[in-house]
Amino acid sequence: MDYSILRKSMVREQLIPRGIIDEKILEVFSKVERHKFVPEEFKANAYADHPLPIGENQTISQPYIVALMTECLNLNDVGKVLEIGTGSGYQSAILAELVREVYTIERFSVLAQKAGVLFDELGYTNIKMRTGDGTLGWQEESPFDRIIVTAAALEIPLPLVEQLKEGGRLIIPLGGSFSQILTVVEKKKGEIESSPVCGCVFVPLVGKYGQEAS
Ligand code: SAH
Repeated sequence: MDYSILRKSMVREQLIPRGIIDEKILEVFSKVERHKFVPEEFKANAYADHPLPIGENQTISQPYIVALMTECLNLNDVGKVLEIGTGSGYQSAILAELVREVYTIERFSVLAQKAGVLFDELGYTNIKMRTGDGTLGWQEESPFDRIIVTAAALEIPLPLVEQLKEGGRLIIPLGGSFSQILTVVEKKKGEIESSPVCGCVFVPLVGKYGQEAS
């Protein structure tokens, strides 16, 4: 199967028409091999316009949502990004193409291990990963210029607000199990300012400052 053709159609048919216009972001989506981040049985569908299962009842997000979150982060000249919810590692790889350092946390060690192997194989030396509860953030490496939460929370975990740099930006899906509002949060003079982006559906963020495991 010629994945590079599928990848180019994904950019042309799913990202550009929906308003993703940043050239650098489009270039990165044309480059990163999404099929390597999905289980063998879903490879043929890796570039389709929907999320896919990745094991442990978790999913890799739809390509457009990954692109939208990336664009909303405003990554020009950004140094350090923290991602909560490594999952397949696809979003981490996209970020690693655009910023200096990516820190990513995953609660399931099986998923973290798989993603770690891929990061090594693909040569992403600027991704640091940890297994654990991402709602606690990554204190030793804070503050972060940007924080991206790729699982749904009822409210923004407090440690993440504290670990966000002044003038920084965080993106998070806020809401209950069935649908959430993708929300951009900016930290200005210690206060946070939230703006809604669109409706979305994510798996829950489970942890001390997140939801309870079901
Ligand atoms: N960014 C991922 C999307 C994965 S889905 C990708 O590109 O594939 C969300 C992930 O968040 C799941 O893997 C889930 O296990 C993880 N997660 C949920 N709560 C978490 C927490 N408190 N800390 C770290 N990871 C968490």
